[in-house]
Amino acid sequence: MERCPLCRAMLNGAETCRRCKAELQSVQRIKRESRTLVGAAIYRLSLGDVAASKRLLRIAMNLHATPEARALWRVVAVRD
Ligand SMILES: [Zn+2]
Repeated sequence: MERCPLCRAMLNGAETCRRCKAELQSVQRIKRESRTLVGAAIYRLSLGDVAASKRLLRIAMNLHATPEARALWRVVAVRD
């Protein structure tokens, strides 16, 4: 996360926004979990396990629907 989602200040990796003092640890944890799930979905897809890949992606997108997760979803969704 490069900018504070509340005030758009640059974060430079900080977990507390220096401008509005928003605590962003839980937001960053959710984004990390979502990235991990997308990685696992790519791995399952590489093994040909489309169903597991879709399950992981659905959970990832419920947490945080990144453009990467949505793009991968479009790939696996047409493989039914
Ligand atoms: Zn802020």
